[in-house]
Amino acid sequence: MSDKKLLARAKDVSKHYTMGGRRIEVLRSVNLDLMEGDFMAIMGRSGSGKSTLLHILGCLDVPSSGTYTFDSLDVNSADDDQLSRIRGRAVGFVFQDFHLLSAQTVFENVALPFLYNKVDRKVVHHRVEEAVGRVGLSDRLEHRPSELSGGEMQRVAIARALVVQPRVILADEPTGNLDEESSREVMRIFTSLHNLGVTIVMVTHDKEVAARAETIRVLRQGQLEREEAAAGVS
Ligand code: ADP
Ligand code: MG
Repeated sequence: MSDKKLLARAKDVSKHYTMGGRRIEVLRSVNLDLMEGDFMAIMGRSGSGKSTLLHILGCLDVPSSGTYTFDSLDVNSADDDQLSRIRGRAVGFVFQDFHLLSAQTVFENVALPFLYNKVDRKVVHHRVEEAVGRVGLSDRLEHRPSELSGGEMQRVAIARALVVQPRVILADEPTGNLDEESSREVMRIFTSLHNLGVTIVMVTHDKEVAARAETIRVLRQGQLEREEAAAGVS
């Protein structure tokens, strides 16, 4: 047993959608323990339920059956306030297509999560500069997304995810729109964040990218299978 603390636990989590009277089983009895400091990759074919699982982990969606506990809170019995607090503060999302606001500067994009959290302006400044520094873009604070490369845009999105000091970063195909060099740069950032103790769950279908994580899990037929340890494969 490690001395890491449990951050989140999915127990027999199933998820289905009903479309035109047909029931689509996406997740079937998924069990997952996420410990603080983990760096986990989730792989699986397109349509295997990776995004669905990530949304449940980030409390953007709830299981059809089974239980999901985040930070000791059972999401099935949580109220809207508790859930939105988790979404806004405890979880940092990173998307394949960055989701940056094109008219806003890097500084403004990274400061965005504070719109919903009352925080002193000086603190916001400090936190934004710190997060942007972590992704190596301190000299780009006044740039707009169109003035950045794809890799830089994704690094801004990572800074925005980091800025609220979340309990976990959830990244859905973060390198899916990037060339090889930018992918490697993004993965170097995730590795350095992991080394600082940040908890990361990353969805990817790229084996090389997944190999940078500490553990790899694979969704097949709605079930989460364990892969061999990723360490050493690169
Ligand atoms: P992945 O991220 O692995 O590509 P998803 O989690 O996005 O897979 O989707 C898994 C399956 O669930 C797909 O077959 C998809 O069409 C279906 N699905 C996802 N979201 C919805 C939804 N809101 N309504 C109906 N079906 C959905
Ligand atoms: Mg997906």
